[in-house]
Amino acid sequence: MEARCLDIDKCVYLNNLKSDVDSYQKCVEKSLVDLNNMNIKYEKAIREIGSVFDLFQHINLITDYNNLYAIINDMLIGVLGVTGSTIFSIEDNALLVEASNISRRDLKNVKPIQNKLIGSGCLEGKLTFFKSHEITEELCNARCIKSAVAIPIMNKDKCLMIIFLEHSLENYFEEENKQLLSTLSLAIRLAAENAKLYSNLENMTSRDGMTGLYNCNYFEKEIANCIDVCDKFGIPFTVAVIDIDHFLMINKTYGHLCGDKVIKDIGRLLESEVRKGDIVCRINGDKYGVIFRNTLDTSSIKDRLEKVRTKICQSMSYDNASLQVSCSFGIASTNTCEAGGDYKDVAAFAEEALRMAKEQGRNKVVIYEK
Ligand code: GH3
Ligand code: MG
Repeated sequence: MEARCLDIDKCVYLNNLKSDVDSYQKCVEKSLVDLNNMNIKYEKAIREIGSVFDLFQHINLITDYNNLYAIINDMLIGVLGVTGSTIFSIEDNALLVEASNISRRDLKNVKPIQNKLIGSGCLEGKLTFFKSHEITEELCNARCIKSAVAIPIMNKDKCLMIIFLEHSLENYFEEENKQLLSTLSLAIRLAAENAKLYSNLENMTSRDGMTGLYNCNYFEKEIANCIDVCDKFGIPFTVAVIDIDHFLMINKTYGHLCGDKVIKDIGRLLESEVRKGDIVCRINGDKYGVIFRNTLDTSSIKDRLEKVRTKICQSMSYDNASLQVSCSFGIASTNTCEAGGDYKDVAAFAEEALRMAKEQGRNKVVIYEK
């Protein structure tokens, strides 16, 4: 009898022990799962910090501000591993595509995305997540995009640009990425502000304050560049120097304000009459320089400048009264110099041609000849 009781006690004890071990095991298993989850979370956080660090580092190294949008777009794709990235700038509440890795064909269908972004509060600074069911119509059908996020880049309460990131995975962008995405937007805003400061500075050093044309420094630098390119690759160029005739008289007769207007109007006319890649500068006072890249066809440049000359004679006015204004033009190209000197002096030869135009009675276009 006593032995049986002992057996039962032992049994109960063992059962209790087993259940303790079981619950301890469950506890350990749960802790392991928790630990694993925490590990995943920390690894993700470390990756995110790494991404932000990488992006800040890369953005700080940008010096090519002319291609800022394209560079940032490439960085975002590389650092975040997203499927698609598009940068929109904002103009009068309309979104313009500045850079994108989406094919041109698909970008044609970008309108619905733009409409969606405008209506999403993004322009007011709201980071906006899109689940697959919200983008099915516009994106998924064509390109299998399952999640997206729109990141506004704000300066105070003005939206400068919107970055639209897409991924082929469902829920790739989540609320918990908000911190990372906001930090990214800060890095990009700083880059955009730097670019603006840089371009203001560049404008200040290379532009003429009154006309907005390139200034004398820029003219000289560009001539040196063109000579370099001509040396290395044999690519020719042509220079024209233009000076207003008897400008002192215009100032004297109608006053300096009128003189200033004439200088600005002729600058605008020159800009509108030359091809896009050509460079119009105000060299000093009433004198302009134009660099025609990649051409030595002086006779067609002469024709073009004859047209400008005629327009100047016909179109100048001040205070609703027409003015008699004319200009003299000198042209020299790298090959017209070859016959009579070093082509590196091309600008001096254009000046020489201008002097001849003045000597021959002004209001003339003269091509340099030895
Ligand atoms: P020419 O036909 O030989 O060129 O005679 P010109 O009277 O035009 O002589 P010049 O080109 O030497 O005169 C330039 C004048 O332009 C001298 C200066 O008083 C005037 N000037 C220079 N800069 C400005 C400016 O920014 N505004 C105005 N109104 N006048 C300027
Ligand atoms: Mg003059």
